[in-house]
Amino acid sequence: MKVLVLGSGGREHALVWKLRQSPRVSKVYCAPGNGGIAAEAECLPADLKNLDSLVNVARRVEPDLTVVGPELPLTLGLVDRFTSQGWKTFGPTAAAAQLESSKSFAKLFMQRHHIPSAPYAICKSREEVRDALPHFHMPVVIKADGLAAGKGVVISKSKDEASAVASEMLSGKMLGEAGLCVVLEECLQGEEVSFLVLCDGDRVAPLVPAQDYKRIGDGDTGPNTGGMGAYSSQALLDAQMQNWIVQHIARPVVEGMQAEGVEYKGILYCGLMLTARGPMVLEFNCRFGDPEAQAILMRLESDLVEALEAAIEGRVSEGDFRWSKDASACVVMASGGYPGTFEAGKKISGLEEVERMEQVKVFHAGTSARDDTYFTAGGRVLDITARASDLKTAVARAYEAVAKIGFEGAHYRKDIAAKAGKR
Ligand code: AMP
Repeated sequence: MKVLVLGSGGREHALVWKLRQSPRVSKVYCAPGNGGIAAEAECLPADLKNLDSLVNVARRVEPDLTVVGPELPLTLGLVDRFTSQGWKTFGPTAAAAQLESSKSFAKLFMQRHHIPSAPYAICKSREEVRDALPHFHMPVVIKADGLAAGKGVVISKSKDEASAVASEMLSGKMLGEAGLCVVLEECLQGEEVSFLVLCDGDRVAPLVPAQDYKRIGDGDTGPNTGGMGAYSSQALLDAQMQNWIVQHIARPVVEGMQAEGVEYKGILYCGLMLTARGPMVLEFNCRFGDPEAQAILMRLESDLVEALEAAIEGRVSEGDFRWSKDASACVVMASGGYPGTFEAGKKISGLEEVERMEQVKVFHAGTSARDDTYFTAGGRVLDITARASDLKTAVARAYEAVAKIGFEGAHYRKDIAAKAGKR
């Protein structure tokens, strides 16, 4: 069968790599892909913001299965459009993807279905923010309602600062339309975990849990990024806690959606805070996380195509995934200056040596290729991912590989998975 993956980052490279391992897959396409992905899939130009462009790609390829990486095409209705053309496509419809595309929708939905989450207020004007703020202790979290590529959440220490941030968002100057409505939220304390489940509109099957590192600097300092690393291990959540999350969070989401006339099919990513009051939802995403997908898929031993098809065809079961007991770690190497401005086009060295390392895989996040040489082409450049029987060794292996790779300005966090050691 022919599989089409939509997207251009490390997550999509990991999807391509895993899908290619299925004995049923004869050819993998990726649109638009990147320099590194092109070594494992035929890449086709495409504009992920434009559904017509993606429809044109599918007309050319005639895929037997399409897998969508990023949230934007999903929220624009890609699955609705592709499905109406008769193309089998993995992911939620635009209506279901509102859980990610609108924070106010997600908060109201969680309230209706008694899913644990922080107390909140939805505000559409400065006056509403002024009236709501006295009900919150500081610090308070201010979130833009719409998609903001990781830039839509600010934690404010004082009411004055909170009010100024909310005004800036509401004015449209900070984040455009995404900020014209804001959600104020109580600031939760605890450890964050990413818990993903596969959904078929009715049932859910959990993936292995992961933890990601969003800030640029060691010790969770500096600005937020698209993600600087992640790890996955058995020890992150015990079986009892996983069952609790499935019962009280994941299943109620799918059943709640169903009760409201919407089928949730695809990956449901629950961003959770493990608080003293129990796990609470920080956010939902309607697709694999990046770089969590790299760490999670590194541990997957069964056929990904089978699992994705089970979701589309409404026959998900706990047995859809077979996982390795190994742990995995992913370290992101970024361009100098990222997450601010950075220069592209720097030559990357050391990749051949790392290719020879066992249980290590380099997923390309932002590279271009010319005459067998790779160059940087994005803020996040490479996702060095390793697997081993224990987390400490997986992390050590990932950093051993990172040390062999070089490009001008390269930087990365040195403390991926360090929190696991402290627990
Ligand atoms: P979100 O896009 O909603 O996941 O927010 C991005 C990040 O902001 C999360 O991963 C958390 O680190 C932080 N965050 C969001 N909501 C809260 C909250 N209510 N309390 C504390 N931190 C939060």
